Amino acid sequence: MADFEQSKKRAEELRESLNYHSHKYYVEDAPEIEDFEYDMMLRELENIEEKYPELVTADSPTRRVGGKADGQFEPVVHEVRMESLQDAFSFEELREFDNRVKEAVPNAVYVVEPKIDGLSVSVEYENGVFKIGSTRGDGNVGEDVSANLCTIGAIPLKIKENLPKIEVRGEVYMPHKTFNEIVEQQEILGEKPFKNPRNAAAGSLRQKDPKITAKRKLDIFCFNVQQVEGKTLSGHKESLDYLKELGFKTVPFYTKCSTIDEAIEEIKNIGNKRGELPFDIDGAVIKVDDFSQRSLLGSTAKFPKWAIAFKYPPEEKETILHDIEINVGRTGVLTPTAILSPVLLAGTTVSRATLHNEDFIKEKNICLGDTVIVRKAGDIIPEVLTVTKHADNAVPYEMPKICPSCGEPVFREEGEAAVRCLNTECPAQLLRNIIHFCSRDAMDIEGLGWSVAELLVKNDLVKTPADIYSLTKEQISPLDRMGDLSAQNLVDAINKSKENDVAKLIFALGIRHIGQKAANLLAERFGTMSEIMNASEEDILTIDGFGAIMAKSVADYFKTKSNRELIDALMAHGLNMKYLKEVKDSRFAGKTFVLTGTLSKFTRNEASAIIESFGGKTSSSVSKKTSFVLAGEEAGSKLKKANDLGITVISEEQFGEMIL
Ligand code: NAD
Repeated sequence: MADFEQSKKRAEELRESLNYHSHKYYVEDAPEIEDFEYDMMLRELENIEEKYPELVTADSPTRRVGGKADGQFEPVVHEVRMESLQDAFSFEELREFDNRVKEAVPNAVYVVEPKIDGLSVSVEYENGVFKIGSTRGDGNVGEDVSANLCTIGAIPLKIKENLPKIEVRGEVYMPHKTFNEIVEQQEILGEKPFKNPRNAAAGSLRQKDPKITAKRKLDIFCFNVQQVEGKTLSGHKESLDYLKELGFKTVPFYTKCSTIDEAIEEIKNIGNKRGELPFDIDGAVIKVDDFSQRSLLGSTAKFPKWAIAFKYPPEEKETILHDIEINVGRTGVLTPTAILSPVLLAGTTVSRATLHNEDFIKEKNICLGDTVIVRKAGDIIPEVLTVTKHADNAVPYEMPKICPSCGEPVFREEGEAAVRCLNTECPAQLLRNIIHFCSRDAMDIEGLGWSVAELLVKNDLVKTPADIYSLTKEQISPLDRMGDLSAQNLVDAINKSKENDVAKLIFALGIRHIGQKAANLLAERFGTMSEIMNASEEDILTIDGFGAIMAKSVADYFKTKSNRELIDALMAHGLNMKYLKEVKDSRFAGKTFVLTGTLSKFTRNEASAIIESFGGKTSSSVSKKTSFVLAGEEAGSKLKKANDLGITVISEEQFGEMIL
């Protein structure tokens, strides 16, 4: 009884956790745990439910396929159910599968193929022409993503035979090369990078704008004929060969195996190749080849009984950690990597593994020369798990105090795991910093976007933001896609930016936690760049709107020698270093405005700029300190609060009169 109660409690916990992670994975495309961890939880729940069938609930994750569509796209009812696959984590389980199959069809022959880690889609053709494409969804109802699927070059829009109807199932995936390029761009642009190619593929396919999907360069491997009219197919291998003839890209290799031993050998072969493939696979699939035998075997509520997916388990090995290498990322974060005695793990030779961050090294008490356990789960970067034995005279590893890329001191903020280099000129961060420096809200240099910045950095013409101001037309015009006119325009735009307000320059420096608003506040308070550079942390903290983290960030930034030298160089190039928005008419001095509702005469930004130009301030929340609430159409809770507190509420017309 105690066991039953315990199992019941555990089943509830598992269900809650699985539902949570399933939503993260299928709906948000942002998993928080490894697939293996998820699969193990699911397996535990399956075991409990098998032991106590009374604990099975109608909505148990063990009974469900995939995730529910989130309503973004039109629903598509699948004529042929898009089933999932039964998992196996050991060869023993594969042999049990073989026994079950052979009981019903003693002469079954298998086909073994890689299990592509992407997302399942169906594409349907009528009279040889693409008709509709959809995601799997819950297996019965998916989403219509036709427009996005049409951007994938490997999906033919017209096939080579004029069949009345054919529905093909495939796995959309993102090749490693594309994934790495996209993640690099995301990091540079400060966007949240995709976690893995599978989530990148899912996120890209479910974009509202097919142009975005097209840019993500997705690909597909087809692995099944769901239904066909006008052609008789009797087996799996035959149907894959036929799909190729029609112009589809099928799974890259598929092998007929007459016995389970042969199938297991092929699974081992695929496992050994896994590390070298230019895309992710998360297992290998064994399928009964003959379609009439498949019908005889049938399906459960979730998966066919004629196929099974072997998931390669994460492998762990012991090795020696010789050294720790520190890499500086594009955002200035220092990442420690373990340099190991090479070991064979999950089909690849591993000689480097991530150590995550400083806290991880401290927690595990990692020292150079230690014997450690390394683990690799599928495509995931190998990681050091634990230390099994310390080296003689081992000394715990300390993160460096200076940046290995530029030699400037590094900083770690309270509450953050990352150690960072804050040097704007650090070579490891250069491209990212140049792009930010020239962007519209920063120095606003027209024509100096991503691709031109990349050209300038690649050709060694720009090594620091100050170098931008030495560029000449003659240096720029021979570059790819440039020419005389573009070069002249760029030089003009660069020169024009010298006159910008110092607030724009402060923002352009990319000081952590200093956005546009904070840059403005600094400029307004101190007036010139020199005053800001020499201000103490305490001085900066007195600015209304500044917290301790922001003040420290500014002070730390100007403690870095190269950053001060950068300002000197920019000054020497004649950049304006003064706050230009002097308040001539200070009619709103000391007054705080809150804007609410929809304004029709001004945008919110325009209204705020006017208020600030008259020495006033804007705030996002109403308090006793608010002087005026400027209320537009459909003003809601802020208007109510203003009335409750007795704050003066003004209309757009009244505001218009106040600024005459
Ligand atoms: P599955 O991915 O294990 O297997 C079924 C899928 O394999 C099919 O839908 C099909 O599209 C695909 N597939 C790829 N190549 C194939 C081939 N050659 N032949 C047949 N099918 C092929 O099962 P699932 O139900 O789609 O999803 C479960 C997966 O999602 C598990 O790997 C699980 O770990 C993962 N997941 C992870 C999390 C997380 O938080 N990390 C959460 C939920 C699910």
